[in-house]
Amino acid sequence: MQIIRGFRDILPENIKLWQKVEKEAKKLFKDFGFDEIRLPILEKTEVFARSIGEATDIVEKEMYTFPDRKGDKLTLRPEATASMVRAYVQHKMYASDPVRKFYTIGPMFRRERPQKGRYRQFYQIDAEIFGVAAPYVDANLIFLLNELFKRLGLSDLKAHINSLGCPECRPDFQKALLKLLESKKTELCADCLRRKDSNPLRTLDCKVPQCKEALKDAPTNLDFLCKECQDHFNIVKKTLKKQKVEFIEDKTLVRGLDYYTRTAFEIQTTSLGAQSAVAGGGRYDLLVKEMGGPDIPAIGFAIGFDRLVQVMETLNKSVDDQELDLFIIALGDSAIEEGYHWSTDLNLQGIRTEIDYRGKSLKSLMKRADKLCAKHVLIAGRKEIKENPLVLRNMNTREQISISSDNPVADIVEFLKKNN
Ligand code: ATP
Ligand code: MG
Repeated sequence: MQIIRGFRDILPENIKLWQKVEKEAKKLFKDFGFDEIRLPILEKTEVFARSIGEATDIVEKEMYTFPDRKGDKLTLRPEATASMVRAYVQHKMYASDPVRKFYTIGPMFRRERPQKGRYRQFYQIDAEIFGVAAPYVDANLIFLLNELFKRLGLSDLKAHINSLGCPECRPDFQKALLKLLESKKTELCADCLRRKDSNPLRTLDCKVPQCKEALKDAPTNLDFLCKECQDHFNIVKKTLKKQKVEFIEDKTLVRGLDYYTRTAFEIQTTSLGAQSAVAGGGRYDLLVKEMGGPDIPAIGFAIGFDRLVQVMETLNKSVDDQELDLFIIALGDSAIEEGYHWSTDLNLQGIRTEIDYRGKSLKSLMKRADKLCAKHVLIAGRKEIKENPLVLRNMNTREQISISSDNPVADIVEFLKKNN
């Protein structure tokens, strides 16, 4: 039997970078005041359709949507923000204090064409801040991403930022854009012709070279920002500069979701070819209200976990192999029985210990210890255990000591602590 196309097993030999990223991210989130939230993988389709936007690629083409046995229309979540807002509104989290900061880590599902850096089940690290309109939190989220990547040793990542305006100024921009799209009708791809009517902004995001060429001098949001949006964007940029976060002002960045207002950003890498976005995010000041809550601003980002790990692999960021602390070579039944209890006690004391139960010879068990990269072996002899001392050997230095079999665990712990 084979796994579904576009889905992946992340095997134990590849998991270390994932764990390292998760550990660094969780530490940063904690220090920056974010609480973890865990959300369901399945939601009613409307949660995504209404928030992400009916005329987006995600909702039109990429969602795994199906009726359940009772006919309810359900969707495997393609992203986390919509569920996050649904939960924030459903539990009236704003009632006690509208200012909340959450993060969540987990799988997302989009039925895209699988290729390097693009899967049908992929993982995101997602963070959101509710209840703060100030541009400082926009800068703070971009700063946080930058800091995480720095801690992971990644330096080729660049923040691209743009402002998408607000309901005050966006209509003027859309009018200007539509005018241009009408005049370029013969040069646009079929998708863009459709987008022209359903969601003109999306045309700016089109990857078809001919469309890119036709729209290279298209008007941009930035030309049309109202005073408030302009001031907001300026403070974001000023703050980032002061915090020494490098960024590129990118007028073409529109992002694939409808709910964004004002600041939008993406972190891009040069080391993954076409799949260059490692994280994306932006402000969505209208979404909480649209989803039935009060008028509360919000902003968030999602890191593409798979792509981040891929960048680290490309740059050969490895994590030290975790060796086995101790391998117990138990010769004979009574040694195996005693050895089982020692190994469990050692596990409880934080010492990674393995024992082999098959009653193999000393020679073959020494081979096994080598294969497992054991730092130490404990040899418990075949004769009556009580009468024979145990031998504890450091496999790197070959140093070895005898250990009385009365209370070997305490002696082993002491020896290993000294030798580490
Ligand atoms: P792209 O332009 O690459 O399709 P996107 O704009 O659709 O990205 P977002 O919705 O912003 O992506 O999701 C945030 C991040 O999640 C992306 O920057 C990317 O790193 C990651 N991501 C999105 N789709 C996939 C996928 N199918 N497989 C792996 N990672 C993905
Ligand atoms: Mg996409």
